Amino acid sequence: MNLAVIGTGYVGLVSGTCFAEMGNNVICVDNNPEKLAKLNNGQVTIYEPGLELLYQRNFNQKRLSFTANLKEAVEFAESVFLCLPTPQGEDGSADLTHVIEIAEQIGELLKENSSYKLIVNKSTVPVGTVEKVKEILIKKGSKEFDVASNPEFLREGFAVDDFMKPDRIVIGAESEKAYKLLRSLYEPFVRQGNPIIEMDIKSAEVTKYAANSYLATRITFMNELANFCEKTGANVDLVRKGIGSDTRIGKRFLFPGIGYGGSCFPKDVNALIKTSLDYNSELTLLTLVDKINKEQRLRFFNKIKSHFNNELKGKKFSAWGLAFKPNTDDMREAPSVPIIKMLLEKGARVKAFDPASMENAKFYLNDTIEYAQNMYEALPDSDALLIFTEWNEFRNPDFKKVKSLLKHPLIFDGRNVYDLDDMEEQGFTYYSIGRRTIVGKE
Ligand code: NAD
Repeated sequence: MNLAVIGTGYVGLVSGTCFAEMGNNVICVDNNPEKLAKLNNGQVTIYEPGLELLYQRNFNQKRLSFTANLKEAVEFAESVFLCLPTPQGEDGSADLTHVIEIAEQIGELLKENSSYKLIVNKSTVPVGTVEKVKEILIKKGSKEFDVASNPEFLREGFAVDDFMKPDRIVIGAESEKAYKLLRSLYEPFVRQGNPIIEMDIKSAEVTKYAANSYLATRITFMNELANFCEKTGANVDLVRKGIGSDTRIGKRFLFPGIGYGGSCFPKDVNALIKTSLDYNSELTLLTLVDKINKEQRLRFFNKIKSHFNNELKGKKFSAWGLAFKPNTDDMREAPSVPIIKMLLEKGARVKAFDPASMENAKFYLNDTIEYAQNMYEALPDSDALLIFTEWNEFRNPDFKKVKSLLKHPLIFDGRNVYDLDDMEEQGFTYYSIGRRTIVGKE
């Protein structure tokens, strides 16, 4: 099948590459010349495990190409996928500027169109947006087209795996032709029997927000419970295991930490709240989820602050991890950023190491912090080690070395990476989330 993917970011590049891997011919469009120059020069622009190999293979086989020319891509493709950003607007709603702008441009292109086109929206958009896209296309005089909603559920850090073996595919459409096209495109991805779920367009749009908001709610429930465990002397990790083995609950998305972040959960929760208000049907639970999530970062900062008797001026901290989660270089809404900024505001210094996100971190933190070449280089002369992201390489460090490099054997772990007994044995003072504090021998 000939496909166009408009917007070549996390979703677009992964989708385009994986579609090409299944033998489709894919043209990816982007309006960022630097990104295009890299992609046309054999360089992948994001860090995602497994992506580089697939990209190289399909780029070399000429099944995957990159352009700024929307017209060329739309003329070439039978199905056109919109993978455009929908960032949070000032009032919390999803900013649809990019989607609407491209819909208008496609509308112009389809005026004289004689061959059928399926316009598929993959961006996360409020209910009713695909209908708006359709109205724009009709108004512009487009002919021979269908619109569909095909929300994307990939997780950054597992994007290729998730795309190649999705739990489910959701297709919202209005015509049998559109369902059929998307079914045949996705069948190779669900050979193990995972479902392709067909529904109306509005339900597909809501499904995406419901999934992200529910997952954000689970994490938030655990964060609040962790705070309760700290007060009561219970251990949230044990509680997590205790409830997670109930098949009605399940084990995933129950890990407490310093709050969810990333390019999706925060903005999607807020966008759904805003849509619910627009429809006079407020999702009050989500309003609390957003509030608790923001407070979780502050709680972590307060733990650090109160350990130092509110005196952070002149203190030096080492940070392990900056990205909002492991296996990604994405820094959007990473909780590390507000926490680091609060420390800097109080006169502390920070030296950080992240295996993948340091280049992107510079966009948010500039030269307000130092960047280390490796995890141990971040440590010398620091008053404490802060763990913001649970990268695997931080799980089993040489604790003797850590202890010898730090000024004090003190760790604030925002991700519960270490075992409490181990920390006790190693002699660290160790703060984590929802578990007792270990008081070491400083
Ligand atoms: P991104 O910012 O990584 O990528 C968007 C790309 O679109 C960028 O490369 C940008 O240059 C390009 N672009 C912007 N305007 C353009 C235009 N007018 N013409 C051509 N290209 C244009 O965004 P993303 O993370 O891939 O997210 C895209 C959508 O998918 C969003 O709605 C997001 O909520 C949703 N989504 C994201 C994820 C994720 O994990 N990142 C997962 C599921 C769904």
